[in-house]
Order: sequence, then C-alpha cells, then structure tokens
Amino acid sequence: MSLTGFKNISQILTLEGALRKDGRHLKPVDLGLIDDGAIVFDQDKIHWVGRNQDIPDQYRDISFVDRKGFCLTPGLVDAHTHLVFAGDRAHEYAERLNGVTYQEIAARGGGILYTVKCTNEASRADLFKEAINRIERIYSYGVKAIEIKSGYGLNFEKEKELSLIIQDLKKHFAGKMRIHNTYMAAHDIPNTFKSSKDYLDLVVLPLLEELAPLKIIDSVDIFFEQKYFDHLDTERLFLCAKKLNIPTRLHADEFNDNKGAVLGVKHGSLSVDHLLATTEDGFQALANSKTIATILPGTGLFLGKKQAKAKIMLEAGVKLAIASDYNPGSCHFDNVLKLASMVAPNLQINQAALWSAITLNAAHALGFNDQGAIVQGLKPIFTFFKSDSIDKITYNWSENLFEF
Ligand SMILES: [Zn+2]
Repeated sequence: MSLTGFKNISQILTLEGALRKDGRHLKPVDLGLIDDGAIVFDQDKIHWVGRNQDIPDQYRDISFVDRKGFCLTPGLVDAHTHLVFAGDRAHEYAERLNGVTYQEIAARGGGILYTVKCTNEASRADLFKEAINRIERIYSYGVKAIEIKSGYGLNFEKEKELSLIIQDLKKHFAGKMRIHNTYMAAHDIPNTFKSSKDYLDLVVLPLLEELAPLKIIDSVDIFFEQKYFDHLDTERLFLCAKKLNIPTRLHADEFNDNKGAVLGVKHGSLSVDHLLATTEDGFQALANSKTIATILPGTGLFLGKKQAKAKIMLEAGVKLAIASDYNPGSCHFDNVLKLASMVAPNLQINQAALWSAITLNAAHALGFNDQGAIVQGLKPIFTFFKSDSIDKITYNWSENLFEF
C-alpha cells in the first residue's frame, strides 16, 4: 500500500486524549494538539502522526505535501439528519414568526404531513438528485460522515424507496463520505391508520423484515413520544431489530421526560437523540453505558425552544455528540460545525467536548469506531481547514475554512 504524507501542518487536532477517555469528562488538554505537525498514512490507516522534526527516518523517502497555514482535524461527522425529502416549509417558519402555533399549522395539514405529501409526489430520481445536492453542500463544510434517516414516506412502498435511495447515496459517495442508513418508517403515524400499533404491524415491522436481508439498514430509529409511538411500540421495534441483528437508536425525550434515555440504554442503543426533557435518571443511565447522547441544538434555535442540559450531562460523564437534525420543518440548517460553535458558549461546552461532539463521539454514535481521532491505526478520515490555529475554526462563525 503506498504511503502519503503531509508536513508543516500548522496545527493537528488529534483528540488522542479524548479517545483514551472514551469521549467523557474532557478537559482542554484532551484536544491533543500538535504544532508544526506531520502525518503519514495509506488508504486504510494512519501510520504515524507527530511533529515535523520527529518524522521517523523510515518515512524520509515519501514525498510530503506541504500544508503550512492549514489545520488538520478528525473528519467532521453529522450523526442525525433527515435529508431525503421534497418541498420546503419556509411558509411555516414565517407563520410561526407571526404567532401561529405548530399545533395550528399541523391541524390544517401542515407540519411533517406536508413534507410527507411532497415526498410521496416526488420521483425516486428527483429525491436522489436533491439529496446529492444537499450532501455535496454538507461535504463542503468538511463533513466526512453522515447519518441519513428515512421517514417522509410513511407507507410501505415509499419508505422502501427511501431506504433504497439512501443505499444509492451510500454507493454514490463511497470513498468521499461515509453514510449511515437509518430506517425510520416510525417517524409519525399517517392518519389513515387507527393507531401506532396498526401502523407498526402493517408497515414498520414487515418492511424492516423485508429490507433486512438486503443488508442495507445500519440502524433503526423511532419517534418515541406521547401521541406518537409509545413504550410498547418502541420495545416491539427494538426486539424485531435485535432479532435481525440491526442496531437501534431513538428520538427520546424531545417534548416530555418519557424516560427515553433510560429505554435506549436498556436496549443498548447506539444513541439517544434530542434529550431536551431528560432528567437525572436518564443522565445517570447514559453515563454508565456505551449509548451516546446526541443533542440537536439547531432544533431549539429554529423552533425557539429551550436546549438540552449539556453541561449537566458532561459533568455526569455522558458521552455527548452534537448533530444538525437537518430537516425541512424543525431545523433547516445543515452545518454542524457552525451550529456547535454557536451554541457552545450557552451550553457551556469546553473546546475538547465541542470537537469530540462533532467528530469522535458523533462517529461512535454511528458505529464508526475506526475514525474520530488522528491516531496511529485509525482510518485516515480527516478534514483540512485553511487556518493556522484550531481556535480560529470555531471562532469564525460566518466563514467556511474547509479546504482540501
Ligand atoms: Zn430527528
């Protein structure tokens, strides 16, 4: 395997300490910064990383590319998006600004059901093309791995199509960006079904069993919330997934403290997401588990709501990730780096926790345990920024410094 190298990198953010501490209880020193650094890697793994002056003799023959004036960080990861959809909901955003409530919008066929209508009217080719444009834009911020959920079809055929589109996207972006395909037919309950149980029996569970043998589903997700899917629905879906050997995650405690975090931990879910209403028992359960807490601060900003208690979670030893939740209704914002930079002061997240939340911990939330830090042996999945210090990357809210 041929080796490649970069040298004279102004700063390398290795997250070596963060990796050693499993992304918890992080202090600024866990950033593992190297000034004037160099790196040697092949297609599969990082062979060496360190200071320029310490490049081992065995690598002297490699033609190193000079990267003075650049920072190198682990590849950014967006661990929660709903980016396969048609139509937009700009009119709803304006209406909410003008005082119309979400319930009023939903009552007249707006909200998620509007996106479901537009998505069902769109062709597979158009949905694929639109999603490619969105992913290319997200890539242009330095994101190297992304999670994508199905869930705007809400019927057997369209949900199947959405899962297949995500698989097509995975193939299209292979080698450039990693994609995690999440099955989320249990996103909402169409009003043509009597109950969540009926919808589960007729669509969600049978479709999952049909898709499982194709080996394209990387995890399943469910909207566990009052008036949506209840405790029993969630357990049934998770048991079905377990039987099919598919990992789980869930939308937990977004509106109410439904003990979603506790439920996710009980089932060994990869992540529990949102957590706005989670309380102490949820934080303790997460701190003592491998399940990652993925918070989605863009949704709070977009809807004018409160935020998850990130500081308390971090102090408890929870492994925290931050994702965009990019979707047409509750967060039409897709830049996870800008988002994390903007909310960190209010959430009281230190620099190491911030970077881990959008690289290391977010990668682990997708089961990508072979990336997320710039350490020997891990995959060479990293991002260059045109900046001589990592401080400037999170400081420059309005400038995109990604460059490769
Ligand atoms: Zn979501």
